[in-house]
Amino acid sequence: MITTDTPPLDLVIIGGGPAGMSAALIAGRALLDATIVNAESPRNAVTTASHGFLTRDDVHPTELVAIAKQQLATYGTVRYLNDTVVSTRQTAKGFEVVLGDGFEHRGERLALFGGESAAHYAPMIRMWTDDLMVFAESLGVTSSSTDWGTTALDVGDTGGTNIGGLYVVGDAKTGFSGVVGAAAEGAACAESIVHEIAVERWSPTLAVSVPATPPRSA
Ligand SMILES: Cc1cc2nc3c(=O)[nH]c(=O)nc-3n(C[C@H](O)[C@H](O)[C@H](O)COP(=O)(O)OP(=O)(O)OC[C@H]3O[C@@H](n4cnc5c(N)ncnc54)[C@H](O)[C@@H]3O)c2cc1C
Repeated sequence: MITTDTPPLDLVIIGGGPAGMSAALIAGRALLDATIVNAESPRNAVTTASHGFLTRDDVHPTELVAIAKQQLATYGTVRYLNDTVVSTRQTAKGFEVVLGDGFEHRGERLALFGGESAAHYAPMIRMWTDDLMVFAESLGVTSSSTDWGTTALDVGDTGGTNIGGLYVVGDAKTGFSGVVGAAAEGAACAESIVHEIAVERWSPTLAVSVPATPPRSA
C-alpha cells in the first residue's frame, strides 16, 4: 500500500505504444524505478499490419505490443500495468496518477505517451462528450496556435514541457509520429530523463580522486 512515506518512483509512463514502451526500455536499461500504465488501445489497432518499421514491416500492431512487453519483462526495475490512468495531479514531490483500479502511483517524473495529440482534438471531441481528460492541459502545459489554425502543446525536442518533470512525446506531442518515429522520440525522451537524474544524483564526493602526477624531474 502506498503511504505518504513511500518514496516516489523515478518515472511514471502513461501509455504503452511505441513511444512509451521504447521509453520504458531505456528506463529499464538505466535501472530507473519506473511504472508504465497502458490501456492497450493503440491508434493503429484497427489495421491488420503496420509498415515502415525496419525489421518489423508488415507486423500486426498487437504483435508489436506483445514483443515489446516480452522484452520489457527482462528489466526488473520496470513494472508494466495493463490499466487506464483516470487522473493525474502534481504534488510537492512530483506527480500522482490514479488508475482505473483505484490504485495510486507516485513518480518524480511523468511522461505522457497517450496517443494522438489531445490538444489538437480535445475542443472538437468535447462537443460530443465531457468525459474527456487531457492530462497535459489539466497539469498546466501551455500550448500555442499552429500555422494550420490548430493548437499544439509547447513541448521541447526531447519532450520537456513548461512543467518541470513532465514530458509529452509521440503522437500525443506531434499528432502523427509513425511507429518508428514514436519509438525514437520515446527513447530520446527517456535518455534525457536518465541524464537529468544522473546529474541530480551525482555528487563530486563520489568521484574517485586521482593522485596528481608528480612533476617529471629534469
Ligand atoms: C489506421 C492507422 C494506421 C497506421 N499505420 C501505420 C503504419 O503502417 N506505420 C506507421 O509507422 N504508423 C502507422 N500509424 C501511426 C502510428 O500508429 C502512430 O504514429 C504510433 O502508434 C504513435 O505511437 P504512440 O506511442 O505515440 O501512441 P499509440 O501507439 O497510440 O499508443 C498510445 C498508448 O497509450 C495508451 N493510453 C492512452 N490513454 C491512456 C491512459 N489514460 N492510461 C493508460 N494508457 C493510455 C493507449 O491505450 C495506447 O496503447 C497508423 C495510424 C493509424 C490510425
